[in-house]
Amino acid sequence: KTWQDLGLIKPLLKAVEEMQYEFPTNIQSLAIPAALQGKDLLASSLTGSGKTAAFLIPILQKFYRSPFTNYSKALIVTPTRELAFQIYEVFTKLNKYTKLRACLVIGQSAMQKQEAELRGNPEVIIATPGRLIDHLQNSRSIDLDNLEVLIFDEADKLLDLGFEAAAQNIVENCNRERQTLLFSATLTSEVNKLIDIALRKPIRIQA
Ligand code: AMP
Repeated sequence: KTWQDLGLIKPLLKAVEEMQYEFPTNIQSLAIPAALQGKDLLASSLTGSGKTAAFLIPILQKFYRSPFTNYSKALIVTPTRELAFQIYEVFTKLNKYTKLRACLVIGQSAMQKQEAELRGNPEVIIATPGRLIDHLQNSRSIDLDNLEVLIFDEADKLLDLGFEAAAQNIVENCNRERQTLLFSATLTSEVNKLIDIALRKPIRIQA
């Protein structure tokens, strides 16, 4: 399959070309069309499979030139700061011509600066669970009532690190009408529990 086959818009075709992503990977070929149709997704995928672009491309395409809203539209929850930085880096490259705004919400970084950024309602929030919960509970600077897409990255690792309650709390704070994408290398019983509360009739993808 080619990127054109997946129906990518021009600004994204240009970005992937410049990144020298010649062809979509397996996970990208399967996940992008399903996500663009608005389906919930359960993707079993390893690091190195291209999963980051698999979840970033659909949200960039969906929210490109969407009207300004006073809430953020997509939330990506990832286990560690390092992973959050990596996602932000790929976002920055893919976003070269779509020009959406993303905010990093991670620990060990100034809370007030994040609050100020969040008040501008960036379309995309890339967060680690601890700091996200902090904002939700203490500063109320994030409102997920209108969120359109929730993404769990490396769900198995997230739960291994002890973020089960945090993950549940995040889901409970999110708009029920949202779309949810969940990526996990393995499907442990903890991951299955999260799947039960977070996903609705997901399309299952293995790649
Ligand atoms: P990830 O699984 O998202 O961590 O991506 C693993 C590596 O694959 C990263 O270095 C990406 O830059 C690279 N990558 C992702 N998608 C593609 C693609 N379609 N073509 C070539 N490289 C890619």
